[in-house]
Amino acid sequence: MVQAIADLHTHTLSSSHAYQTADQMAAQAKACGYRALAITDHGAAMPDAPHIWHFGNWRALPRVMDGVVMLYGAEVNVMDTKGGVDFPQGQLAGMDWTVVSIHSPCMPGLLTEREANRLWLAIAENPYIDCIGHSEQQNYRYDYDLVTKAFAKNHKVVEMNGNSFNVRKDGIPNMRALLRACLNNGCHIALDSDAHSTRQMREGLHKLYSLLEEIDFPQELVVNASCQNLVKELKLHGRGCADEIGGLLL
Ligand SMILES: [Zn+2]
Ligand SMILES: [Zn+2]
Repeated sequence: MVQAIADLHTHTLSSSHAYQTADQMAAQAKACGYRALAITDHGAAMPDAPHIWHFGNWRALPRVMDGVVMLYGAEVNVMDTKGGVDFPQGQLAGMDWTVVSIHSPCMPGLLTEREANRLWLAIAENPYIDCIGHSEQQNYRYDYDLVTKAFAKNHKVVEMNGNSFNVRKDGIPNMRALLRACLNNGCHIALDSDAHSTRQMREGLHKLYSLLEEIDFPQELVVNASCQNLVKELKLHGRGCADEIGGLLL
C-alpha cells in the first residue's frame, strides 16, 4: 500500500485564500508523519497571489522546519495554449519544486481537446516544470494517452490532487482515466493535498490512496511514496536542491 512521505503542493496565507503560515503547515506535515513538504503558493497571475518577491526570498526560511524538509516553489499558472506561464524561466530554474496548473482566472472558458493537448505538450518541453497540477478538469480535457507519453519522456510528474474531491468534482472520473494512462505509459505521479489549511492537509490524501488501491498502482511510479523516489526525481529534474535534500532524507 502506498503511503506518502511528503506533500508536494500546499498553500500558506501568502496566497490570501489560504489560512495558515509556513510554520503551521510544517507542524501539520510533521503530525501527518511526512518527511518533506513543498510550499507552492500561487503565481503572480492569480488574483490572490503574493508579490513576485515572495518567490525570491526563501533564504529567510530554513531548509528544515520542525524536522520537516522544506521545498520552496510555486503553483505556476498556464497563461495560453502555447504553454506560456507567469514566471520568467530564470526564476523557475531557482525553485525547488514547481507545480503548473490551469486556473480559470488565467485561462477563462473551455479549451478544445486540441488546444489542451497543444498546451500540455508545450509544457512538457519546459525544463523547469516539475509537476502538472489538477489537470483532470472536464473543461480542459486532453488526450491522456498522447500527453502522458510526452510527460513520461520529459520527466514531468502528473499530480493526483486531493482537493479536487472538494472543488473539482466533475473531473473525478477523468482522474481515474488519467491515472490509468500514467500507469500504461510509465508516467510518474504525485499525491498532493493542495491544502489551503492545516485541516485540509490532515486528510488530504486519503481519497487518493483509495483511488490508487482500486487499480493497484505501483509505488515505484509515485514520487512521494518514498524518500528514495523523491530524491531520485529531484535529481532527474536537475534540481539544485537535490543533493542537499538527499543528504537530509536518505
Ligand atoms: Zn490550483
Ligand atoms: Zn493549489
